[in-house]
Amino acid sequence: MRLEGKVAFISGGAQGMGAVEARMFAAEGAKVAIGDLLSEEGRRVAADIGEAGGEAIFLELDVTSETQWQQAIAATVARFGKLDILVNNAGIGGQSTIEDTTEEMWDRVMDVNAKGVFLGTKAAIPEMRRAGGGSVINISSQLGLVGVDNSSPQYQASKGAVRLLTKATAIQYAAEGIRANSVHPGPIVTPMTESGRADPERNRLTLSRIPLGRYGEPEDVAYGVLFLASDESSFMTGSELVIDGGWTAQ
Ligand code: NAD
Repeated sequence: MRLEGKVAFISGGAQGMGAVEARMFAAEGAKVAIGDLLSEEGRRVAADIGEAGGEAIFLELDVTSETQWQQAIAATVARFGKLDILVNNAGIGGQSTIEDTTEEMWDRVMDVNAKGVFLGTKAAIPEMRRAGGGSVINISSQLGLVGVDNSSPQYQASKGAVRLLTKATAIQYAAEGIRANSVHPGPIVTPMTESGRADPERNRLTLSRIPLGRYGEPEDVAYGVLFLASDESSFMTGSELVIDGGWTAQ
């Protein structure tokens, strides 16, 4: 199994891509901690993993809180003995122009999507050091690489911040065997894109921007995250894995 003996923490693992990654990681032999605001959904994912023969726990976590991050990582290590992998996946979207965006809207998205990744990484590094190394995987977006007219400035800025925070982490901790890479999904079938997919005009516009002509499935991204989590990617750090159906190729 590709993650045999490893312990992983996945933020935002109660639904969407994070939940698929949690199930895939457990099937590949990892012990998995899921941190999310959605406790009912998160507990269900952890229970499903247990019923399938894997090991998982759910921990309540708001990624904007440094205290909650510290408690969640401590609880993971208390339960599973160490931490090898952190997937900073929790995120929120948004649709607005710069002029329509209030300071509160900006702050909220930057807090969850950018500060949340910083706080998670900060909490995980000491445990990865104790484990003798680790892999941090930060979920950015294709919209952390290129601009678009119908997202929001705060979403794009936050995902661009994740891209460079990943490189800072990679450089600062490479000597300790702690790797950090960013993943840049294009539009994926998850609850986050539900309203856009249900709106015929927005759906048509999105599909027109994807050369492969379809939304990605959560598994399309999870396989990339699994690779970065495993030792198969042991010579990769500070890199950007783009899984976007060709969006950024044009
Ligand atoms: P989703 O909305 O289905 O799931 C996101 C999860 O994050 C939810 O379980 C939510 O409760 C959790 N979350 C949100 N705020 C949180 C907080 N403050 N603390 C803890 N948990 C919190 O989204 P998804 O589509 O699975 O997205 C996962 C990641 O991928 C996000 O970072 C998103 O920006 C990114 N992404 C998504 C797409 C897409 O098309 N779906 C494309 C590119 C990037």
